[in-house]
Amino acid sequence: MSQHHHFTWPRLPDVRHQAACHFCDTLHELDLIEEGTAAHCKECGFALYRNRHSSLQRAAAFGITALSLFALMLIFPFITMDAQGNVSEVSVPGAVASLWREGGELIALAVALFVIVLPFTLLASLLYLCLPLLFGRCLPGSRPVMRIFQAFQFWVMVEVFFLGTIVSLLKLVKLADVELGIGFWSVAGLMICLAGAISGIDRTELWDRIEIAEYPGREAS
Ligand SMILES: [Zn+2]
Repeated sequence: MSQHHHFTWPRLPDVRHQAACHFCDTLHELDLIEEGTAAHCKECGFALYRNRHSSLQRAAAFGITALSLFALMLIFPFITMDAQGNVSEVSVPGAVASLWREGGELIALAVALFVIVLPFTLLASLLYLCLPLLFGRCLPGSRPVMRIFQAFQFWVMVEVFFLGTIVSLLKLVKLADVELGIGFWSVAGLMICLAGAISGIDRTELWDRIEIAEYPGREAS
């Protein structure tokens, strides 16, 4: 193991990397940048990409924590209600099921999509990429998985569900004694860790690392 500091991620030397600014569409050559810095658009100053400290480790650690919280959210009750001695526990999957039964099919589908399906798809795809990349490897289908991750990253709306629940809880509190369960705190933690996992590593870096892992025989720059 060499002692010199890693300023940037490995990249194939003879491949051109270009990207347009998301804000003003100016085309840029993507040069490697030092760890802890960001590359900005030369026209408008918009941040093009970042080289974060320990990005792979950070994304993987947040991802694993988020996945554990996701499992706790599915298992444990979100809230416990006590209305005149009539105690009921509601978990996130339980809430989806009862919404469906009581005619709120659309809301049930929205909750299932935004709180269960999308976060899980994002976490699974990020870990599928990041865990092998920690060892300089990538698993089959990494490119389609990366595209799924990129397409869905802006569709994480756990926060919306969470805020909606807090608002409904405030109404419920008048009717019954409501206690927040492990499921509630898991969603709160999941929100934070999911954001940490997604912003932990830059897309440019992930694509470069996948590219170099697919050609293990070639010399990295
Ligand atoms: Zn720009």
